[in-house]
Amino acid sequence: MSTSKDKDERSPRKPNDECNIDRLRRTTTPEGMSVELVSAFAGDRSMTEEEKREINEQQTVRGLLFYSDLFYAISHHYFAPEIAETLWGKVLKHKHLLSEILKRNIRITVATLDFFSNINKDFISPTVISEENLVEIAKNAMRDRMTGLYNHTSFYELLELEFRSHRRYGAGVSIILLDIDDFKAVNDRYGHQAGDQILIDLAKVLKQQVRDSDICCRFGGEEFVVVLPFTSSAVEVGTIAERIRVKAMELGVGDLPITISLGVAICDHSVSSPHELIEHADRALYRAKRAGKNRVAFSTVPTVL
Ligand code: GH3
Ligand code: MG
Ligand code: MG
Repeated sequence: MSTSKDKDERSPRKPNDECNIDRLRRTTTPEGMSVELVSAFAGDRSMTEEEKREINEQQTVRGLLFYSDLFYAISHHYFAPEIAETLWGKVLKHKHLLSEILKRNIRITVATLDFFSNINKDFISPTVISEENLVEIAKNAMRDRMTGLYNHTSFYELLELEFRSHRRYGAGVSIILLDIDDFKAVNDRYGHQAGDQILIDLAKVLKQQVRDSDICCRFGGEEFVVVLPFTSSAVEVGTIAERIRVKAMELGVGDLPITISLGVAICDHSVSSPHELIEHADRALYRAKRAGKNRVAFSTVPTVL
């Protein structure tokens, strides 16, 4: 039905690996406050105009939570909003004191660590870990071991981020929820290992058929979900879903054909939460199953396909 050309034609931005690591860093706080931004805010270096704007916006939007967020970004430790502002003042004082004594600029991360481990004694036995290792650990925690796709938990976090961007900037977002048809029969006839291999191969099909910036996740068991940021056209999502469906048919095991059913949901202004978007996709998937499996169904009927 479609060619790899379609894949390129619908790419509005150039994605790369950084994109996912960036997302991962941005999930450190609910509002995506980065360590770099906190560090600039604390005076480690001067802030750019864009950073100043972002800080102002964060302060307005987050209110009392703002100072909790600052600490969470640099330490992953949660301090209640009522005490976080006072503590932030103390940590800044400590940073200046250390800088004066040592006659060099002590970064906010170091001052925070020293304050909470040696002065306030909130951190019992802090460990030093390189950012490289931390990113690696976090990446593994976000992934499903078997398929290498994002796991159920990160799916929700990543969808939440895309949903916010949809709400704030009007960026489109769609999801495709898919489930292998009669998968139990594969396990029963050829064993669990053969079943696992199908899951791994299907994960590869997903990754091959979408843009790098699309987010492929294992939803659980033999269910997968793809989040498509910047995508709100039924034709576009339908084309991709159909392409995945056709490719999946090449994954047969023995004389058992493999087919999948897919439910597509496109976020519009009537969708009030990520959870509701998933429900739409789930209902569409249910309809695809009821209609005979091996097909794509939409949460709303597309006008053209
Ligand atoms: P339907 O077409 O209605 O989706 O039927 P189905 O047989 O696919 O659905 P059902 O929910 O009855 O069975 C899902 C099967 O998926 C049962 C379960 O053992 C299998 N499964 C779930 N996770 C894994 C896994 O990690 N590995 C393997 N091999 N099988 C799995
Ligand atoms: Mg299932
Ligand atoms: Mg199934």
